[in-house]
Amino acid sequence: MKVGVLALQGNFREHAAMLRRLGADAVEVRKPEELAGLDGLVVPGGESTTFMRLMRLYGLDEAIRQFERPILGTCAGMIVLDRDHLGLVDLEVDRNAYGRQVASFEADLRLEGEAEPLRGVFIRAPRVRAMGEDVEVLAEHGGEPVLVRDGRILVASFHPELTEDTRVHELFLSAVREATSVRA
Ligand code: GLN
Repeated sequence: MKVGVLALQGNFREHAAMLRRLGADAVEVRKPEELAGLDGLVVPGGESTTFMRLMRLYGLDEAIRQFERPILGTCAGMIVLDRDHLGLVDLEVDRNAYGRQVASFEADLRLEGEAEPLRGVFIRAPRVRAMGEDVEVLAEHGGEPVLVRDGRILVASFHPELTEDTRVHELFLSAVREATSVRA
């Protein structure tokens, strides 16, 4: 499985390292043509305004809109994929929406179908304001969705690449594997 990690800015190295640990061939993506032949794509955390600016500059915004394989977006990646930005996931999110005092925090999350809690690292995280009916909630924090799936797209408001827990990436890679076998 060849999985691209958008490498314009932010936590792309940590995502690539985790994908490699799980046996995927992770490649850094900086140009639209580098999306060709990929089985999946990760849009990492970082700074969403910077991502949008650089993506427009390189034509990656349109190229990612056309990309049809599974996508994992984390933190700023969740913002970039939402209705107000690339429009790939049926969500509206507010940036930096946790108050100043709790701008960054960690919490144990209950993951759908799993007994073992998932440690969520939230760093100036976005907060889901609205979501479409078809969006599935896979984990919540304080009654609000923090890990959701909209068809082939999985987004987390936290940073699964900053812990040793590989379950979010495994979930993404199983969608990648499934989509690849359908295509084959
Ligand atoms: N606060 C950042 C933004 O608005 C997201 C933070 C992150 O990705 N860790 O883009």
